[in-house]
Amino acid sequence: MNKVPYYPFERVNASHGDALSNAFARVLKSGWFIRGGEVANFEKQFAAFCGASNCVGVGNGLEALSLILKGYIELGRLQPGDYVVVPSNTFIATWLAVKAAGLNILPAEPCEETSLITADSVKAVLNNKVKAIIAVHLYGRLCEMGPLAALAKERNLLLIEDAAQAHGACVDGSARRAGALGDAAGFSFYPGKNLGALGDGGAVVTNDEALAATVRKLANYGSAQKYVHELAGENSRLDEVQAAILAEKLPPLQAQNAARQKLAARYLAEIKNPLVRLPHLDCAKATEHVWHIFAVHCAERDRLKEHLLANGIETNIHYPIPPHLQGAFKGMQCSFPVAEKLAMQELSLPLHPFMTEEEINQVITAVNSFS
Ligand SMILES: *Cc1c(COP(=O)(O)O)cnc(C)c1O
Repeated sequence: MNKVPYYPFERVNASHGDALSNAFARVLKSGWFIRGGEVANFEKQFAAFCGASNCVGVGNGLEALSLILKGYIELGRLQPGDYVVVPSNTFIATWLAVKAAGLNILPAEPCEETSLITADSVKAVLNNKVKAIIAVHLYGRLCEMGPLAALAKERNLLLIEDAAQAHGACVDGSARRAGALGDAAGFSFYPGKNLGALGDGGAVVTNDEALAATVRKLANYGSAQKYVHELAGENSRLDEVQAAILAEKLPPLQAQNAARQKLAARYLAEIKNPLVRLPHLDCAKATEHVWHIFAVHCAERDRLKEHLLANGIETNIHYPIPPHLQGAFKGMQCSFPVAEKLAMQELSLPLHPFMTEEEINQVITAVNSFS
């Protein structure tokens, strides 16, 4: 029996031929590793890709989000102690970013069907201390940004995207992509993301010039001019090696996302097992999902995971413990039944642009034979 790996980095990297080694070599030869031409070039490319005017490369996705919030505090748009709405079922980084900025977390439950928060689920928790919403495009699927933006406008809230899983997801095939759908967006280039570096990396994308300039300063010791420190900043920078790698990996991203969409369509059409709930997606919205993760739900998730493993198939769980049940937030004293149920039932099937037909067939057959 063949093994179906969850995400084979060898294959992903090999698909770029010599481009990645050449990019490494170019930076090595340049002798310049921080704040140089590679970062400036990638920032320009990635801003254009998202359809936004600014991109600031930062150290990772968590800091992209916390720097956005800290930037808004510097600009007087947020005050320490304000509340930020976050999904109850996100990766813990979304919550940690709010905490790191000295703001308060107000979780909203997701819609069970999509695992995403909606304008209605945010409305259900809103109070007058809330000043911002972080919409997480979980698994690569865009939140419904229209109603969220309308709510944010009506209540004068900032709308921030956590786009760490959604590079390239776009509204009805238009040029409006994740990163340009709110006031500002945080991206991660963690190696396993749809656009992944060969180490840590992240970016803030925004049309807000003042925010971009403030984040750029904050991330560089509060400095825009060497040895002049206007703000008590931090060190969170994308480096030249990662930027050079990302610039090579960006051009093929759209085709890779399209390959993911095609493979996901096969799973959606051919997995037929009453014990397994598939993600539901209206075909009119096909471009709104870039399938970073193909998440299915099953009441007997652990048994399904074992069954697939016995059939050679590696899976993952995103995420087994929701943030409010983690030691990191043990003071919170709250319960989020939807997040808890999703955490118990979620299973991520292998899905990446380099899967073969045989691998896809093997997964479909194995899921369908689960009983
Ligand atoms: C990966 C991820 C992050 C954090 O990114 P890092 O680069 O690992 O810090 C934040 N939010 C979500 C939803 C993620 O998936």
